[in-house]
Order: sequence, then structure tokens, then C-alpha cells
Amino acid sequence: MTAMRCFTPFLLVFSVVLLSGCQTLQNIDKGLYDVAESITETDRVTGQRTLSAADRTAQIKQGNAAIQQMLAAERKAGRKTDAALDRREYQRLIQIFDRVHQISHLSQERWQPILLDRDSFNAFTTGGTYIVVHRGLMQQLNNDEVAAVIGHEIAHTVANHIGERQTSQQISLLTSSAARKQGYQAAYTHALEREADRIGVLYSALAGYDPYAATGIWQRQYQQQGNARSLFAHDHPVNAERAAETKALANQVKQYYQSGRINPSAATLRDNNSLWQKRDNRDQATAGEGGGVSAILSTALGAYVDHQQAKQEAGRQAQYAQFVKAVETYMQLEQQRRVSTTSWSTRWRYAGNRSLKGVVMGFIAEDSGGKVHRYVAHQSGIVRPGQRFSLTFKTNDGVTLAQLEKMKARYYVDDALPY
Ligand SMILES: [Zn+2]
Repeated sequence: MTAMRCFTPFLLVFSVVLLSGCQTLQNIDKGLYDVAESITETDRVTGQRTLSAADRTAQIKQGNAAIQQMLAAERKAGRKTDAALDRREYQRLIQIFDRVHQISHLSQERWQPILLDRDSFNAFTTGGTYIVVHRGLMQQLNNDEVAAVIGHEIAHTVANHIGERQTSQQISLLTSSAARKQGYQAAYTHALEREADRIGVLYSALAGYDPYAATGIWQRQYQQQGNARSLFAHDHPVNAERAAETKALANQVKQYYQSGRINPSAATLRDNNSLWQKRDNRDQATAGEGGGVSAILSTALGAYVDHQQAKQEAGRQAQYAQFVKAVETYMQLEQQRRVSTTSWSTRWRYAGNRSLKGVVMGFIAEDSGGKVHRYVAHQSGIVRPGQRFSLTFKTNDGVTLAQLEKMKARYYVDDALPY
């Protein structure tokens, strides 16, 4: 294990581009969001921002043109799509898609999912009437989880998060490696992700899909990948935060969930529910006559999101990242021992003077082909100053320790919060 012998943070600086390969869920919404553009537009859910029919027609035209362009590129590259690619998975996708779309705010528009020949875990929309899903995502998720992703993606269009730049960026990512290299870190802001999550989780419940499925996805991501708080700039909420937030949302909408079938009152509930309400009902609700409408208006969808707020969130995330990097200088590797061909145990001593919780240690390695492998190990409970703790790492992608030894690698602190 020569490559792992020394724990020397900061010596190897991997670029964001390299890391994006193992960033899975972050990829769900890669694309560029322009806050200023979006807030001047509309919100179909709350009516707080209004989009004219003409605006929407133009948006569809543009979004769909981008999709056509993408499909042409796929054909040119000899890649199949939809049923021709995988009949069974496409059928499954359509079934789930139809049920979620049916209860969405855009049910009157004719929408269609596209199944793309990619192993990656990704799905996106361009503001038109298509949702693009990579085959890799279908293969990794059950029906409830696919519904969660679809609901989230439809929500981005419903809440009008899709701007022109985003559309072109999204498409160029698929078609041009140069664009890919520029990175898609400046994806949607946290605020917009939360908004899409909120609508998406409600859609799941109304369509008869488990509203906790989104939480399941994020928890799994957290287990497998940690939060990578100090590794990348996070434009999305980190995995653990997203798991907690979607769970809180699911708690609120589970009352509408009827397993396996669309809630008969879906249309009414869609507009008036515990997560938001239409503007015309607001006065009523605040006067206490809103029936099922709760007083969660402070977090209501369509709440004004401005640059300042986005910047504040970015600042908060940067502070977290700094804290985690500081913790890294106090984590001392005392021992590592081979457990099997794909796992090894480590012993650490924490030399800092502030107690920690939510400690996740990471190991990152780059193979000769430039592919990045990243593994994490979670320490449950509190880590106090001077404390020693043991963690076992396991590769989850078939890479053996013998292979890891030949790679450029290092440990890092994936996440830690002050206790
Ligand atoms: Zn999103």
C-alpha cells in the first residue's frame, strides 16, 4: 500500500473536471442557471411569477430544438435511443413518466421521455416537453426512485428554472468535450434545487409513488460518496442535507400518498397543499381559513430568490468547506491494514481541539487513465480532541488494493461538522 502510506493533504490537487466523473447525482442537473433571468419570469405553481403563453411557446420551441439537435448527434454517432435502445427499460420509463406528468402542473402539455444510451447516472430537461434520462440511471433506480427524479425534473420546468443559457450548456455538455471540461459546477443554485425537490416530492406522493424515495437516493449517495464538502464547489445541497430536507418534505406530503395509484383529488391537492398554495388562496389561508393549507409560507415555493440569497448560500458552503479542510490538518493516520483484496482498515487520531460530528473520511485515487476513484468511510458519533477511531474502507467499483497501490492517491476529510 505504498501509495497510501503518507497522509499529505493538499499535495495532490485534482481538478473539478476529473472529479466530475464520480459525482453521479450532482450530474442530474448540470447546466447553468441564471438567477436574474429566472426570477423575472414565472411560477406556474404559485402564480407569483407569471409566464405568458407566448413565452412558454417560445421556451418549448427552443428547448425542443436543443433536444432535436442532441438526437441528431446521437444518430450520427450510431447510438440508439428509446425502445430501440432498450425496450423493457423504455416501457418502464414511459409508465412512470406518464403517471407523474399526469398530475403535474404541465399535464396539459404533451410530454415525452427520451432514453439515452449512456451508463451514467443522469437526467435532465431543457425547458421544452422532453425529459432525457440516461439508461444508467434507469438501471440503478427502482420505480419509486425513477418517479422522484422525473418529478424533480418536471418541477424545474414548472418553476421555470430553465433559461436559454442553461439549455445550450446542457446540450453542449453531451456533444462537446470542450464544454465538458469547462465544468458544470455552476449548475442550479441550492435554492432552485430545493424548490424542484419540494415540487418533485409532492408529485411523487400525488402520483402514488413513495414520497420518501428521493430521500433514499440521497441517503445512498451519502453512504457511498459522503458529501465531498471540501473537494468540489457545491452548487447543489450536499447529499446529507438533501436527504434530510427531502425527508422533511415527505413527512409533510405523505398524507396524500396512496401507494400505487394517483390520488383521486390530485388536481386539487396539487394547487392547495401543505407545501404551497396558489396566490388567490393566500389571503384566505393567512386568515386561518385555508383548510389543509399550512402556514409554511416562509418556505413557500416561489419565494423570492435573489442573487444575494444565492451568494449567501454559496458563502455558507464555502465556510463549511474551509472548516473541513482545516480539520484535515488535524487528522493523523496512525495505521492501515489490509482486510481483503478490496478493503482495508485504518486508524486515526484527531489532534484538533474542537469536537466533531458527522465525520466522513475519504480516499481518492487517480488511475493512469485519469479516472478518479473515490471511497468514503463514515465515523458515527462524536469525535473528541485527542480521540482515536478506526474506519474500514472498501472499494465499491471492483478496484483491488493491488491496483490502488499503483495509483496517485491520498486520504482527505470528506466531511465534518463542529459538535
Ligand atoms: Zn435539479
